[in-house]
Amino acid sequence: MSSIKAPRGVRDILPEESWKWAHVFDVTRQVARDFGYREVHLPIFEYTELFSRGVGETTDVVEKEMYTFTDRGGRSITLRPELSASMVRSYLEHGMSRQQQPVKLWSAGPMFRYERPQKGRYRQFWQLDFEAIGSQDPYVDVEVIDLSLEIFRRLGLKGLEVKINSVGCPVCRPLYRDVLRDFLKPNLEKLCPSCRDRYDRNPLRIIDCKNPECKAVTENAPRTIDYLCEECSEHFVGVESGLRVLGADFSVDNRLVRGLDYYTKTAYEILSGDLGAQNAVCGGGRYDNLAESIGGKHTPGVGFAAGVERIVLSMEQQGSDFGLQPKTDVYIASAGEEARERALKILHELRNLCISSDMDYQDRSLKAQFKAANNMGAEYVCVIGEDELKSGMVTLKNMNSGDQQTLTLEEGLDILKRAELSRKSR
Ligand SMILES: [Zn+2]
Ligand SMILES: [Zn+2]
Repeated sequence: MSSIKAPRGVRDILPEESWKWAHVFDVTRQVARDFGYREVHLPIFEYTELFSRGVGETTDVVEKEMYTFTDRGGRSITLRPELSASMVRSYLEHGMSRQQQPVKLWSAGPMFRYERPQKGRYRQFWQLDFEAIGSQDPYVDVEVIDLSLEIFRRLGLKGLEVKINSVGCPVCRPLYRDVLRDFLKPNLEKLCPSCRDRYDRNPLRIIDCKNPECKAVTENAPRTIDYLCEECSEHFVGVESGLRVLGADFSVDNRLVRGLDYYTKTAYEILSGDLGAQNAVCGGGRYDNLAESIGGKHTPGVGFAAGVERIVLSMEQQGSDFGLQPKTDVYIASAGEEARERALKILHELRNLCISSDMDYQDRSLKAQFKAANNMGAEYVCVIGEDELKSGMVTLKNMNSGDQQTLTLEEGLDILKRAELSRKSR
């Protein structure tokens, strides 16, 4: 029988990497607190309808990339491909419009998309997701942008750059769509097959096509921001002036579009890295008509999502600091059954004092136990051999300095407690 492996396109996040992830989550949780966003945990699967209506029937995600199946009760279920729709669903379902607005929520977890696997892209991938629901104030857009920037700043990402755009609203977008179609018409033949298909259904998406020929055609395409209605235009000015107040480094990018009716006004993206090797580390924007599209009453909202794999990869490439890798600080080496029993008792006490500690479970020689302690990066080894057993003392060896002392257990614990305190204050 061949051994079973993980399905194609997914992977295990092993301890060698997961501690870096934990750092990203720690920083994110702190920033969330500082900005007043509260954490929620939402289901990994939802009714398919939530995404077909809440993400959009004509998007690649819904058309080609969803993990959809019929459950045993005959209902169509989909593994979530993103979080905004679930967040707004939860807001509506729990009547959060009765709370103080905007309701500010965040969550982190795996998303699922059936995409062609390639380096850095997986079918199960993790996102950080922040949403501010219930306000149309442009300063909320500014807050969301600043929040995402703050996470990346604290994670030490370099060359951070904000690109923003406004995609208008159902009032002004039809006008822009017509202008865009007129502009594209003479070059329709040069567009890729999917863009030719988009021309009628969703022409805005042609502007963000990555195909070089499509890019060339749309090089001088009319800009959405030149066709905004008064409300959208004022909102965009508000976002820009707010970003200026914060001194944020931003530019307007007409290629940032989302061609669906419930995406409104602000669209933004944050890039990081050296010029020429820049990566988008997050994307977000406003979705004032999303709540309505999934059957709720009109509720404005704005938010962003950031891929955890991409963040960690960017941090590694840029040599960012992930903080201290967790390790075992004290190893208890013992020889003989009676000593082992005493080791178990001391281990229990150390752990009670919140001192990370471990012992041998493999019946190894003292020499091999020292080697194990070394491999774990332990700062101290506490030895209980025959002599210690007789005298009731312990021998404590500092693995960095090589110093060794024989002490009473109380004295030993005291040294280890102080060492732990100084480690934690570092
Ligand atoms: Zn408008
Ligand atoms: Zn194209």
